[in-house]
Amino acid sequence: MLLLLAGCATNPVTGAREFVMMSEAQEIAMGREADGEVRRQMGLYEDDALQRYVEEIGLALATRSHRPELPWSFAIVDSPAINAFALPGGFIYLTRGIMPFLSDEADLAGVLGHEIGHVTARHTVRAYTRASGAQLGLLIGSIFSPAARAVGGLAETGLGVLFLRYGRDAELQADRLGAEYAAISGWDPAGVRDMLSTLSRISEGADRRGVPSWLSTHPAASDRVERVGSILSELAARMDITGLRVNRRGYLDRLDGLVYGENPEQGVVRGRDFLHTELRFALRFPAGWEVVNTETQVVATQPGEEVYMVLQLVTDPETRDLETLAIDNMRSGGYRLDAGGETSISGLDAFVGTFTGGRGNDGQPRARIAYIDHRRSVYVLGGLAEAQAYDRVESEFNEAIRSFRPLTAAEAEEIRPNRIRFYIVQAGDTWQSIAQDAGHGIVPSNTLAIMNGFPVNEQPRAGDRIKLVVEG
Ligand SMILES: [Zn+2]
Repeated sequence: MLLLLAGCATNPVTGAREFVMMSEAQEIAMGREADGEVRRQMGLYEDDALQRYVEEIGLALATRSHRPELPWSFAIVDSPAINAFALPGGFIYLTRGIMPFLSDEADLAGVLGHEIGHVTARHTVRAYTRASGAQLGLLIGSIFSPAARAVGGLAETGLGVLFLRYGRDAELQADRLGAEYAAISGWDPAGVRDMLSTLSRISEGADRRGVPSWLSTHPAASDRVERVGSILSELAARMDITGLRVNRRGYLDRLDGLVYGENPEQGVVRGRDFLHTELRFALRFPAGWEVVNTETQVVATQPGEEVYMVLQLVTDPETRDLETLAIDNMRSGGYRLDAGGETSISGLDAFVGTFTGGRGNDGQPRARIAYIDHRRSVYVLGGLAEAQAYDRVESEFNEAIRSFRPLTAAEAEEIRPNRIRFYIVQAGDTWQSIAQDAGHGIVPSNTLAIMNGFPVNEQPRAGDRIKLVVEG
């Protein structure tokens, strides 16, 4: 069967015949399907002008690439992670979170050109073919059924696609193609080197929270900075690359007011509280636990212990009978009900039960899980622990479950995202003094330096216009 599906195709970049699993039509169809999933699950960032801007630059590069005929599309997804990714067929995304870490339009063209290169050289097709064989959906390892998904997050299928890995050679080829596409389209190809420098500084450990994606799929950025240096020299020998477009001012102007970090419309962690202004609920996890809002679920862990709590949303529940839903849903995750009953949590209908489960050698974990009906959605909120640890944490599980409550419109209004603003550096300012200034202390000084294209040990100059993160 595999042999029948596989075939040879000419690589558009190298011209070589190579063995691939799908035709261009199949590639486009697959990309289009995954694109729908990405848009539905991650959501696009709501700023039409910024979306159009990225699309215009992306299309300008793509039409001069090796595969101008693909149905190219470019979009900014509403994620705080620092990431850029491509799907087969020419569907390319930047995250909202990468935008502040680019310094000018040439950097932006560099990132877009690099991702275009992964598509034109058919890296995306080959990586997707490998990943499909490895069962994309299992990456999350959810203890709940596949019917449970993230609160405003990303489903299993989409997530697998985003974690496509390319080899080192593919990355270098994408850097080369990105620089070439930028230069022939009129942008300074040094943007490829500059954005790699910035991303390598992030990977050196200034502020890794919420930063994993581009870095985990793009290893050794610092190595590549040097290689790009020689790529730029080769380009300069072939064509005049002086005086090409950089447009720092125009790029920065478009970032004014950009949401930075978590978007309350997708849920924010504030201390031990998790608040969601769009879905209108709040809850409080146990004191001292670490709460992380991932793209797939909200997870709270007790430091040093194999004990955790999870919040997810049940998509398209098959029944509104919460007891039936809970039993069916948990059974598909290998758990059986020990005891439980219908109840009310903050005035909301709920079913709370204790379950024992574990497929394989999990050592019979126990779970205290609530299914809560709120505004036409059903939430799964619960705690899991090994059998011997369960009794110690059951009361904390119960307290957190009981804390789930609707958020009023007035409360939701008060929860505002942090945003990018600008500041003119004054004589004597340092990254440290700027970061410590009232209202500017949202991100640490190292992150401020990196965000503005500086090494962390180099100070800004008086008169520089720099990006800041401010409250509300
Ligand atoms: Zn790449």
